[in-house]
Amino acid sequence: MTTPICLVGIGKIAVDQHVPAINASPDWILAATVSRSGTVDGVPAFDDFERMLAARADIPVVSLCLPPVPRFDYAAKAIAAGQHVMLEKPPGATLAEVQTLHAMAQAAGVTLFATWHSRMAKGVAPAKAWLADKTITGGHINWKEDVRRWHPGQDWVFAPGGMGVFDPGSNALSIMTEIMPLPVHLTGATLQFPSNRDTPIAAQLQWTGNFTGDFDWRQEGPQSWDIRVETTAGTLTLHDGGARLLIDGVEQDAGPDREYPALYDRMAELIKTGASDVDLAPMIHVADAMTLGKRITVDPFEF
Ligand code: NAP
Repeated sequence: MTTPICLVGIGKIAVDQHVPAINASPDWILAATVSRSGTVDGVPAFDDFERMLAARADIPVVSLCLPPVPRFDYAAKAIAAGQHVMLEKPPGATLAEVQTLHAMAQAAGVTLFATWHSRMAKGVAPAKAWLADKTITGGHINWKEDVRRWHPGQDWVFAPGGMGVFDPGSNALSIMTEIMPLPVHLTGATLQFPSNRDTPIAAQLQWTGNFTGDFDWRQEGPQSWDIRVETTAGTLTLHDGGARLLIDGVEQDAGPDREYPALYDRMAELIKTGASDVDLAPMIHVADAMTLGKRITVDPFEF
């Protein structure tokens, strides 16, 4: 049986990932979109969220693909209307607003799913299983990509609440917080802010347990989405954002890659079981980096 779902914010990630994942799923039917300018061929389109809520009481689920800052108001209205809600990552602009949404969802008896798509990358679950009984001696995150390629013209990433390099960096942090058998906490950070922007374009982080991270949004050419975890029993590395897993340099067969389809499978399961999934651990590291970070001003950035 298919459940009608409404996709809100028809921008880059909705078109690249959400629409294909919903269309390929036996669980969902894309019943409406809400966007001020984007539409999806053949799907009823609204340009106002409240009008959609009033007109389409037959749709019990919304998936919010907006940037983090506007997302809270949409989620709050959806929960108040009795809808189950899926949040793109990072789940909000602040930790407290996501906690508020979680409390609202619990009170309303609806599902709230704060998604972390990188946790669904195919190497992540086997990495977690391999590390579960290991003693960790250190590790490193190397997360460097080209903001012009992945966020073309998206000024919101450099506005307050846009999180800058921690927008993609939270993908690495979502993997780290998923696979590590014991938590680490941040001990220091250096944040590089373009002189004309409000969020960092690069960051170097240090955690307990000899763990470090290097995040940069200025990398042209090959992109780097790598995590290395050293243990007393060998070294585990994840590459390509978690899609490839190697143990002591030997490639592991990690199964099919289906990040966004797996998110929609999980949403169907959460609704079926009456549960929510709201893990703020990756965002806590971002907030801690902003709290502890030494600020350095670097060259201005323009798209
Ligand atoms: P985007 O294309 O800039 O924005 C998505 C849509 O949100 C826009 O098309 C816009 O639709 C709507 N929107 C933007 N600002 C708004 C506002 N202030 N109020 C209401 N609606 C607004 O962004 P995106 O790249 O898809 O990213 C959206 C989310 O997905 C972010 O949290 C991002 O971290 C996450 N994500 C992005 C990527 C990626 O590669 N880009 C990958 C994974 C996850 P209308 O103007 O038509 O209303």
